[in-house]
Amino acid sequence: MISWIKSKLTKHHQDCDGVSNDPVIIRRAEHGISRSNIDEPALKVLYRLHKAGYQACLVGGAVRDLLLGRHPKDFDVATDATPEQVNKLFRNSRLIGRRFRLAHIQFGRQIIEVATFRAPHGETHEEHHDESGRILRDNVYGEIHDDVWRRDFTANALYYNIADFSVIDYVGGVEDIANKRLRLIGDQETRYREDPVRMLRAIRFASKLDFSIDDTCRQAILELGPLLADIPASRLFEEVLKLFHSGHAEESFIALQEYNLLRYLFPDAMPSLEDPTTYAFVTLAMHSTDQRVRVDKPVTPAFLFAALLWVPVMKQTQVNVEAGMPYSLALQKAATKLISHQVRYVSIPKRFSTVMRDIWSLQTRFRHHSGRRAYSLLHHPKFRAAYDFLCLRANAGETDVDHCRWWTELQEKDPEQQKKILSAVEPGTSRRRNRPRRNKGGTH
Ligand code: ATP
Ligand code: MG
Repeated sequence: MISWIKSKLTKHHQDCDGVSNDPVIIRRAEHGISRSNIDEPALKVLYRLHKAGYQACLVGGAVRDLLLGRHPKDFDVATDATPEQVNKLFRNSRLIGRRFRLAHIQFGRQIIEVATFRAPHGETHEEHHDESGRILRDNVYGEIHDDVWRRDFTANALYYNIADFSVIDYVGGVEDIANKRLRLIGDQETRYREDPVRMLRAIRFASKLDFSIDDTCRQAILELGPLLADIPASRLFEEVLKLFHSGHAEESFIALQEYNLLRYLFPDAMPSLEDPTTYAFVTLAMHSTDQRVRVDKPVTPAFLFAALLWVPVMKQTQVNVEAGMPYSLALQKAATKLISHQVRYVSIPKRFSTVMRDIWSLQTRFRHHSGRRAYSLLHHPKFRAAYDFLCLRANAGETDVDHCRWWTELQEKDPEQQKKILSAVEPGTSRRRNRPRRNKGGTH
């Protein structure tokens, strides 16, 4: 299918910046999108809008993924019905967003997002954008050809029209998909200034879809990276989650460095990544997250954040210990310092920073191979995350492999045997010494 489209489309859309007024229509028989690959709820929404006399198209990532033969993560619909009209048509819908109103239509656990075609404002550029070019308002309804301009990449700006099952392409998106090319619609600098998060989206899509980013786009990102500093930390958290939890964390992490963007997300991690062992450790953490995502195992952002800040937090802990603090206090103070600085860039909700602290503070406790401490560690709610973290450190050469091996073997034993091993008196611990001891700095 892709090669057919390649040959058919070469005459169209050579102009990199343009949104053509005259779209290419790829008819039902000429593309590979089959309705059997579209989730039932999305089809229901499309058909009902169409029957009620509205235009209804599948749009964005879903069309792109269907053309690539992938199953879309979610299905977004665009229509000329207003949110209120959509709301009237579907009992299971609700309107969300104040500035940018959308309808969410709920089918069990699945939500179909329906957006009304939007147009650029008739106002001047100054009224519509802030002084750095960032887009401020995006709430004027328009027609489908206006809506194209709101999209970021050509591959994300295709419309699958339920009226005749064709794909509507104003920007050469089908050809770009065929060539595995990520291309921003319009003038690169203007579009990145409007919304600097698009730079992170470029990296995400290139990593996920194995698309190439052309040289001008690469250059623009290298120059405009500092604009990410103006993006709210909470929005960057959402975007970082998408970058690292979609099964392509490792490639995204490498690309973030290549495009010099990691410094705007995790500045404190930067110096430590120069060290090959730390670099190997963080990359392994990304890799292991990807493997978990691919087999549908749960992942928590706390793990990767803990990995990125592990060496910086250990360095600060050491400074605190040298200033005379007991180890566990030194670690807690270091954690507070690092986390409170980090959240200025990419926020970390408390429920995750608590887990990061647990993962860090449990690391020193793995050296106890018997007794009460080892037993309570094995039953700690965050044992598994901390143990996985320890093993990655060991694999990266950051701590002793035997350490990790001992705990691996212990978990393979049955509960009775575990009890026996752990009830042995901790070497070097007598009753007399069972009073609290000052910890002298851990084993790292
Ligand atoms: P994914 O498969 O990761 O969901 P997606 O392309 O569907 O990818 P979404 O973030 O779900 O991405 O957004 C849906 C669509 O909305 C995009 O395809 C794009 O057309 C548009 N869009 C989303 N965010 C932006 C943005 N920051 N700038 C311009 N267009 C955007
Ligand atoms: Mg999507």
